[in-house]
Amino acid sequence: MDTCSSTEYRRPLRFFFFSFPAFGHMIPLIDIAKLFSRRRGVSCTFVATPGNEYAVRPAIEGSTVDLLLLPFPPEAAPGSGMGENLATVPRSQHGRLLSALPALKDPFHDLLRAHRADCVVSDVHSSIMWIDDVALALGIPRILFVIVGVFPATVVETVATLPGAHDESVETLTIEEGIELPKAELSTFLSNPEIIHAIEEAKRRCFGVVFNTFYELEGRYVDRYRTKPGCPRRTFCVSPVFLSKTTSAAAAAAANRGGKIDSAGEECLKWLDSVEAEGSVTYVCFGSENEFGRQQLTSIALGLEASGYPFVWVVKKSLAEDIAGWLPEGFEERMEGRGLIIKGWAPQVAILNHRAVGAIVTHCGWNSTLEAISAGLPLATWPLQCDQFVTEKYVTQVLRVGVSACRGARLAEAVREVMGSGGAEMRQRVREYAAKAKEAVQEGGSSYKDVDNLIEEVGKYHAAGKQG
Ligand code: UDP
Repeated sequence: MDTCSSTEYRRPLRFFFFSFPAFGHMIPLIDIAKLFSRRRGVSCTFVATPGNEYAVRPAIEGSTVDLLLLPFPPEAAPGSGMGENLATVPRSQHGRLLSALPALKDPFHDLLRAHRADCVVSDVHSSIMWIDDVALALGIPRILFVIVGVFPATVVETVATLPGAHDESVETLTIEEGIELPKAELSTFLSNPEIIHAIEEAKRRCFGVVFNTFYELEGRYVDRYRTKPGCPRRTFCVSPVFLSKTTSAAAAAAANRGGKIDSAGEECLKWLDSVEAEGSVTYVCFGSENEFGRQQLTSIALGLEASGYPFVWVVKKSLAEDIAGWLPEGFEERMEGRGLIIKGWAPQVAILNHRAVGAIVTHCGWNSTLEAISAGLPLATWPLQCDQFVTEKYVTQVLRVGVSACRGARLAEAVREVMGSGGAEMRQRVREYAAKAKEAVQEGGSSYKDVDNLIEEVGKYHAAGKQG
């Protein structure tokens, strides 16, 4: 067990975790719970609704994290068979699920009180703003978990204040010196003040913020954030959380993120084992929520074929059901032995770290971005929404570890660039970041120390007798 330097305080410190029900939020928060649970004097409990148990339980296997289930009150339950996660609920039903979430406030409050929670860690979304009220009512620190990096978070938070943001004649905003973004790509944050309000409020009321990043990846922006008026002084960068322990139990849990690995996932890892050439396969995945149209799916297939490289392509279950409707004729026969389509859920971290994989085509979800960089893989970027466009800029223009696929228009070229000899410098750079990621989570590394710092601050709060 890792040790934690600390002042004297009541032990164990009971941390409770609750996530907005989307895999992009839930997966890294489970990893953080596991990370904290390895520190001495800390106990960790993940709270989830029963419809998410199938995803949480396998991911915490082998750790000391507890799972407590919090059913929706019957009158607020989102609907039988509807599912309780944005990844499993059709987009048209997302609103129903989100509007059910506030009904969890009182049961969550009672649960934390009954278990004498010392701290609650949760992400931010307008549908779960009540977490702050619960923490304040109980007199316990609330740690805000920001699922993206500091750079995209800062851009999102400030975009509405940038010069030209509300001037219709201006089409492009400068988000950072030399980095421009079309306003259309930031429209969610420009046109929806509710999101920004939720973030500002959560920042104002929280005890501290934990970012899903590591200092060596975004140091300049972390330093700025820590001293910026309105940003919490207690800002911790603790990632890459999935890298923090490399035991066989951790490897199994990595394969089980988002639900127990299924036969398609196992088959894919076997197929990769059979590939002789190192770094020769491109992994293609657009996260847990994408809803591509038929035409886009067809063009992805053609782009991958034209790239000339072997690939593993993850296609969401709902889209795979209609595969005959969009897969180009003869594609499967032509790609036999060269390409594998996973229909459903892939063991992504295990795949990215397989020696046969050489690059990723990604939508730039922050988790996938961090997972790819930590595996030392260059990125061909194809963002789909919101913060993903900002992350694309960070990857391609600041870190220079990826190239844009221009929303699919140059998918084949982008794959050739990241996989081929032209991508050598990019690969060198991303491997350096991967090495720094590993150092960050080792004892004495920046992320390791920030976990200690966070626990210490919560401990000090309670040692000072501020608990309610
Ligand atoms: N993921 C996975 N298998 C899949 C698709 C996604 O394990 O088939 C994981 C991926 O490793 C990442 C998360 O789901 O941890 C997706 O988060 P990200 O921020 O990349 O995208 P989002 O789903 O939020 O758009």
